[in-house]
Amino acid sequence: VPLQFLDDIAKTVHSIFGIPVVLHTRVLDMPKAFDVSRDQYNSSALLSQVVAQDLPEGAKRIAVVDVDLFVPVLTFVFGEAQFDGLAAIVSTHRLDNEFYGMSPNPEMLYRRLEKEIVHELGHTFGLYHCRQFECVMRSSTYVEEIDLKRTSPCPTCGSFLSQARVHITQTDRSSS
Ligand SMILES: [Zn+2]
Ligand SMILES: [Zn+2]
Repeated sequence: VPLQFLDDIAKTVHSIFGIPVVLHTRVLDMPKAFDVSRDQYNSSALLSQVVAQDLPEGAKRIAVVDVDLFVPVLTFVFGEAQFDGLAAIVSTHRLDNEFYGMSPNPEMLYRRLEKEIVHELGHTFGLYHCRQFECVMRSSTYVEEIDLKRTSPCPTCGSFLSQARVHITQTDRSSS
């Protein structure tokens, strides 16, 4: 993923979640998560590596990878998150038109990646899937469904996030 993409997405994440965002380059042990029979990478195995990354206490983290991810019960996943937890992971693998036999479209890849990052981070803040049509927390099985939703949460999910943020700020204060 072009770094410029991630820089710009970091700004979006900052404005939606109201928290500082820092980009890091880290190495994950990819062979360890590779499933030979499926020719895909086990998303949960990578997620546990993301959890184990050495980062400031309580910092939420989301890994961006480019390999095809799966969980055992599903053919593939765009990403995975620990609900109300620390870590998430997303992959660009199925987000570019190139995967579907069309010409690459960096602009669409960018929009989709941005939404998926906000979506998975939303889960780490305790947001469930939302039924509002345009809400970023609506679940998507196909890229076309990602294209239909917005990058931002609906008012209900948005106000839940503000509450979650207040809680985090208070926890920070009481532990310092
Ligand atoms: Zn989800
Ligand atoms: Zn919503």
